[in-house]
Amino acid sequence: MCRHLGWLGEPRSLAGLMLEPPHGLLVQSYAPRRQRHGTMNADGWGAGFFDGPVPRRWRSPAPLWGDASFASVAPVLVSHCVVAAVRSATVGMPIEASATAPFTDGTWLLSHNGVVNRAVLPDAVGAESVCDSAMLAAVIFDRGMESLGSVVAEIGAADRDARLNIVAADGSRLLATTWGDTLSMLHGSDGVVLASEPYDDDPRWVDIPDRHLVDAHDGDVRVTALETAR
Ligand code: GLN
Repeated sequence: MCRHLGWLGEPRSLAGLMLEPPHGLLVQSYAPRRQRHGTMNADGWGAGFFDGPVPRRWRSPAPLWGDASFASVAPVLVSHCVVAAVRSATVGMPIEASATAPFTDGTWLLSHNGVVNRAVLPDAVGAESVCDSAMLAAVIFDRGMESLGSVVAEIGAADRDARLNIVAADGSRLLATTWGDTLSMLHGSDGVVLASEPYDDDPRWVDIPDRHLVDAHDGDVRVTALETAR
């Protein structure tokens, strides 16, 4: 399981979101607090952010803690909308930058925290890698983000062992699902952050229940249960 994060709100630096918090993605890459599957996230990292309508990405197959170049530049990479992740590769999946979240269709940035049997995925073109997460992202992009909740429920029904936590954003909207792993939210006056686990001990963090959809835009956040056939 990887750990991921999404931000929508006032402009913040990638360092402030990922590297500086006492339990941010940097610390989560070697000492996550709530990770149920795997103990470290050393198989790469990715940061995606919006520069106006354009999604930009920096991804690497190496551990985040060793990337001095990113640490040097991250304080001046500032955006109102960010999707970032550290990766613990599922056994058998390639370790390469193109297998590392966030994935994109040119409009959305998307991270998958979990695992899915690729055999149950419908055909979709444009996967960036044969990694399960990249192929899942291609299916979600193909169906359209309005269908995120129903696609997750459908794939979760087809693969009962799947874990399908998604964080996605398009610059003005932040979406997430919980399906088999943890997700927490901090909704402050400056914006909303969704993260696999709280990056600090702020008492305002709330846990999102399993099998839910989070939809944040224009300062509003909605959390709804996903349709499931248990
Ligand atoms: N299955 C994905 C991969 O191999 C995601 C793994 C994860 O969430 N740890 O990259």
